[in-house]
Amino acid sequence: MKFNTKTIHGNQEHDKAYGSVMPPIYQTSTYAQTTPGGHKGYEYSRSANPTRTALENSFASIENGTHGLAFGSGLAAIDAVMKLLKSGDEVISTNDLYGGTYRLFTKIFEGFGIKFHFVGMENASNIESYVNKNTKLIWVETPTNPMMNIIDIKATAAVAKKHNILLAVDNTFATPYLQQPLDLGADIVMHSATKYLGGHSDVVMGALVVKDKDLADRLYFIQNASGAVCGPQDSFLVLRGIKTLHIRMQRHCENGKAVAEYLKKHPKIENVYWPGFEDHPNHDIAKAQMKDFGGMVSFTTKGNNYEEAIKIVEKLKIFTLAESLGGVESLAGHPASMTHASIPKEEREKTGVVDSLIRLSVGIEDEEDLIADLKQAIG
Ligand SMILES: *Cc1c(COP(=O)(O)O)cnc(C)c1O
Repeated sequence: MKFNTKTIHGNQEHDKAYGSVMPPIYQTSTYAQTTPGGHKGYEYSRSANPTRTALENSFASIENGTHGLAFGSGLAAIDAVMKLLKSGDEVISTNDLYGGTYRLFTKIFEGFGIKFHFVGMENASNIESYVNKNTKLIWVETPTNPMMNIIDIKATAAVAKKHNILLAVDNTFATPYLQQPLDLGADIVMHSATKYLGGHSDVVMGALVVKDKDLADRLYFIQNASGAVCGPQDSFLVLRGIKTLHIRMQRHCENGKAVAEYLKKHPKIENVYWPGFEDHPNHDIAKAQMKDFGGMVSFTTKGNNYEEAIKIVEKLKIFTLAESLGGVESLAGHPASMTHASIPKEEREKTGVVDSLIRLSVGIEDEEDLIADLKQAIG
């Protein structure tokens, strides 16, 4: 089965009771047993719920994995991965990282004795210099948020395999439409399904996908033991969202390209970060590991003026000033004061998150309306 078909049919079956084409929303916490232990595979909805199972099967299918796990948020999914580790273990992580992930790593898991190295990963040999006998996990985000750096998943996987380290990839920005990390050698794929997988800005959810039974069992144990699961209604909504992932992504990519090219020619704009440009430093890797370049575009203004950037995001009318990304509607964010406010100024400026940086999640509206909106806001 090819990708577009998988988004709709992958690992799905019609409901056994009445043949409903979409799985029912099993809004229940518990399941009747005929005798103790005599049940139909479901006992309690923290452990498993049929609507969630349908979604978890879809996650596994679209990421070319064998097992999917759904969580109450993207961060809950990351939290579950971190619980594979123990005190004394070390993690090598992308330095240009989603702010919430950075906060979870440094404010929660460092306190439990896990050591993090935040490193530039555009060069895989740079990763290797941080490996020691305690290194248990490499955490990769690509494209990175919000600087749109591209990390070579295959080269990183080679380092991980060589030293017997787990490789996890946060695939939120790319989605499996653009890249499938498990096929490139990753062990774990993570998603904030809140973003493109859900796709309609109406659910908060996280996902993990793996292709190894033992790893799946360990993560399932953590999911059930820690309990950060999502409910059946949200499972239904994300399953519905995934069915149009491929056509939404196609339009996100087309509009992202149009917006990036418009901004690049604009006299008031300094830098435009989008991996589709031939002069993007990691363009060749992006071309090799991604099908297209996505709908996320970041830019800075000439003079790098904080107030001017704030004025632009306030003036936008079709782009909504809001956190988050990946929905059908276009959003604009100011990382320094919003998503990345929890990262110290010196830290964030080292990775390029300067005062005038604006991040766009380009939606699937008409391209002409989006460009006109940017034009009136930037001036
Ligand atoms: C939003 C996001 C997360 C966190 O997911 P939540 O669903 O908000 O908990 C993690 N990584 C990336 C890249 C994100 O954009």
